[in-house]
Amino acid sequence: MFIRAKEGKLAPTTPLPVGCGYCGSKANLKFCGACKTVVYCSRDHQLKHYNAHKTACYLVAESRERYWFELEQITGDCGGPANLANLIKIFGADYLVIHFYLNGFTNSCRSLVRALRLINNRRSVKEQLRHCMDMLEVMRADETGLRFHVPSLMIRLNKDQQCFDFMKWYAKQGSRRQDSWCNPSLPFLDIKSADGLEDPGLIYNVKKLNPMSQGVNTAIVLALLKLRLIFDLQTLQAASQTIGRFVPFEILYLINRYVIRSGSMAQKRRFLEELDHTEEITRQEGQVMHLLKTVQQFNSFIWPAVIACKVYPLNQTCEPGSQGEARVVVTQCGACWFETPGAIDYLKKQMADLETLPSTRMESRTRLRPVMT
Ligand SMILES: [Zn+2]
Ligand SMILES: [Zn+2]
Repeated sequence: MFIRAKEGKLAPTTPLPVGCGYCGSKANLKFCGACKTVVYCSRDHQLKHYNAHKTACYLVAESRERYWFELEQITGDCGGPANLANLIKIFGADYLVIHFYLNGFTNSCRSLVRALRLINNRRSVKEQLRHCMDMLEVMRADETGLRFHVPSLMIRLNKDQQCFDFMKWYAKQGSRRQDSWCNPSLPFLDIKSADGLEDPGLIYNVKKLNPMSQGVNTAIVLALLKLRLIFDLQTLQAASQTIGRFVPFEILYLINRYVIRSGSMAQKRRFLEELDHTEEITRQEGQVMHLLKTVQQFNSFIWPAVIACKVYPLNQTCEPGSQGEARVVVTQCGACWFETPGAIDYLKKQMADLETLPSTRMESRTRLRPVMT
């Protein structure tokens, strides 16, 4: 089986649902007229799904209406489709940032994203990501922590390379001076092709997690991104060992382009031509283990909550080190783990080693505030 790999995109594995909200069929799909987010193959299936869907549908439809209303308050009739990315081009981020802080637009956008979270399909995840990115571009200091939701959304849409770039940009920008950090007219997300194989401790500051920085989300997502690279390296290893000795490098490269899943790996030509990846796999596994341990020592409930593959309401109690805190974190960024085949199995195998670790977290009165509640 060959899976076509595109730059910046993974071939979907356990993809987000894209078909009929009731049966999953992909034929004759029509949108639910109210929320415009769920699709159905027939009127009959829409009716059968009504009870399960009605709350989310109502909340999405209502918050979308408010979002458009608030957007119009800022822009008036500017002509053309009034999505935020266009508006940044037309008005400039400097103009928009004042309005974002002054009126209800920011809240309406956040409510819309929160409502969309109730609908688990590809269209919903795409829209959540688009709104979060638009908001971050204008309000990049990000007081509410939207950026901790974004990496998981990117992975769910198979944007692994963008995810590395996004996290690296925030890690680097975060250490700069406040004025350049908040200035919306300066370049945004201008780090491209971040090397996912680098030691994350040095770049993303995940050696020691600060409870208030929510760096724990970064560590959880990075561990998965690296794990996805390891899975690719293992696939390349298998391909090289079976056919690598018998075909020229150019052919091996072309074949390997088709077997890998990570857009991040697709950019690494040398790996696609090499025969032996043992050393790199070992190195990456060491880095993943370090990330798993760092998270385990931060809160020992997080990995068991990931293994349980559940999301929870975001208004859990958040005492440091508590199960409630773990549930908040996993609800924010766990879905990408659930949807990556093999990831949960890999984690389960490491649990015996992880469970013996003592917590290194300092006793603290600070609470990890749930984001977007
Ligand atoms: Zn159906
Ligand atoms: Zn609906």
